[in-house]
Order: sequence, then structure tokens, then C-alpha cells
Amino acid sequence: MRENIARRKERFVKKSRNTRQRTVILGILRAGRVHLTAVEVHQQARKVLPTVSLGTVYRNLNFLRSKGLVREICTGDAGCARFEAARDLHAHFHCRSCRTVRDIQLPGEIAGAPWRDLGPIGSVESLDLHVIGDCSDCAPGG
Ligand SMILES: [Zn+2]
Ligand SMILES: [Zn+2]
Repeated sequence: MRENIARRKERFVKKSRNTRQRTVILGILRAGRVHLTAVEVHQQARKVLPTVSLGTVYRNLNFLRSKGLVREICTGDAGCARFEAARDLHAHFHCRSCRTVRDIQLPGEIAGAPWRDLGPIGSVESLDLHVIGDCSDCAPGG
């Protein structure tokens, strides 16, 4: 009986710790239109949760993604995924020189296109548009 209560308490502590970690991580990603790698999220999370490990940050990012609260953006560099808080539908501009990722508006023609209707090919769940180029800091003469 007493052991039962102890176990229940332990589970409760574990659960509230997870909630706290997720709240901190989500807060970091919601602080602006940021696109951070897991390592960058970890660096910021450690300011609030000094003992949090990178593995825990990864696990929480994956959990938040599975709940639709976080989006993973693949930059095309192997092992260099970035994360952002899920928000309005938008596209991403990737600078091929400095590797900055910025939000850009989805062109009206694409946003309004009947891309959900692929007929016999399959059903569409989401749209992910990446635009690659040089940002104004990197473009020659810019
Ligand atoms: Zn650049
Ligand atoms: Zn974005």
C-alpha cells in the first residue's frame, strides 16, 4: 500500500518534469519565428533547466512534433534538421551560403492551388515548400 503511493508519487513527479521540459522547449520555439537545430534548442533550454540532456531535448522535440505543436524542417544537409513552432502555412527560404532559414509567404497561386486533390496518386496531408538561394547578406553586391 505504502509502496503503491510512493510509486504513484514517482510517476507524478516524472510526468510533471516532462511537462515542464516540454513547456520550456515550446516556449523557446515560440519566442519568435525561429528555426533552431536540436543543439541550439538544448543550449537555450539549459539556461532554464541546467541538467537537461540533449537526448531529452530530442525526445521532447519528437513528442511535440507527434502532437502537431512543432514542425521539423529538413534543410537538405544530412543531420541538420531544424525545428519551429507549428504556425500558419508558410514556405522556407534556405540560404545556400550561410545556411540561414527564413519564413517566406507561400505564393498565392500555390496556397490556392488544388494541391490536396491528387486523384488516384494519393491523399495529401501537408505542403512543404523550400526555396533555395542566396540571402541578401550573401548575394554578391547585396
Ligand atoms: Zn546567407
Ligand atoms: Zn518556418
